Amino acid sequence: MSELSGLSALVTGGTSGIGRATALELARRGARVAVAGRDAERGKRVVAEIEKLGATGIFIPTELSDAASVRSLAGATIAAFGQVDVLVNNAGVFPFGPTEQTSEADFDAVFAVNVKAPYFLVAELAPAMAERGHGAIVNITTMVAEFGMSGMGLYGSSKAAVGLLTKAWAAEYGPRGVRVNAVSPGPTRTEGTAGMGEGLDQLAAAAPAGRPGTPEEIAEAIAFLAGKQATFVHGVVLPVDGGRVAV
Ligand code: NAP
Repeated sequence: MSELSGLSALVTGGTSGIGRATALELARRGARVAVAGRDAERGKRVVAEIEKLGATGIFIPTELSDAASVRSLAGATIAAFGQVDVLVNNAGVFPFGPTEQTSEADFDAVFAVNVKAPYFLVAELAPAMAERGHGAIVNITTMVAEFGMSGMGLYGSSKAAVGLLTKAWAAEYGPRGVRVNAVSPGPTRTEGTAGMGEGLDQLAAAAPAGRPGTPEEIAEAIAFLAGKQATFVHGVVLPVDGGRVAV
């Protein structure tokens, strides 16, 4: 029997990059996977890839803009699967630029997707996990939540909030069997970073690994934290960044 057999997972931003690789890895490990995102074409493609693995996948179209949309995503997943055992808060936006050129709308949009959506998704799903006495939540943050980088203050601060929430939720739900952890990727080649071109390689060059990561390398760490190899792991923010924050 596979490690996650019989369990249901929800991956936000599962239509692309790290989220897509995570949805596939969780499916490979036996979970039923709900893929949330806005792009129906990409969503359908990921579901087809999940089914090719012999697993069950569904796409749930979602615009993660406010608490109401998050509640409706949680409701749709529970309607399809009965419950959610593994939640991966992966959807994220990462605009970079000078602080003085950031509009209020940009600021609100980043915090809506990166902080508000995971916050209300956990509020919606963690209590039922706690009632059942088991569950795993993995949040995705970033290495630039750990150190200051010019032009990345807005993005980094939103993910720093996610890092702290990871620890607060571990304290809140851990005693009732829900493990809450985070993965903090370094530069990773995805659809979302494709526009950075060589900038991504330059960003990665400062780390011991000296290269960008692949979505699959990040997904392995996420699946580890969600799975049975990590039953004594609570409240960690695991750097998967080629060693960047270590040096
Ligand atoms: P990506 O390829 O751009 O994919 C982002 C995903 O988030 C897509 O599936 C997208 O879905 C979804 N999404 C974005 N805004 C949304 C919204 N308003 N409502 C619903 N879904 C939304 O990104 P990625 O590079 O894989 O990054 C994934 C996560 O890792 C993010 O949280 C990012 O901050 C973090 N991270 C990435 C890197 C990196 O170098 N790639 C490094 C550190 C951390 P649709 O397009 O279908 O709507």
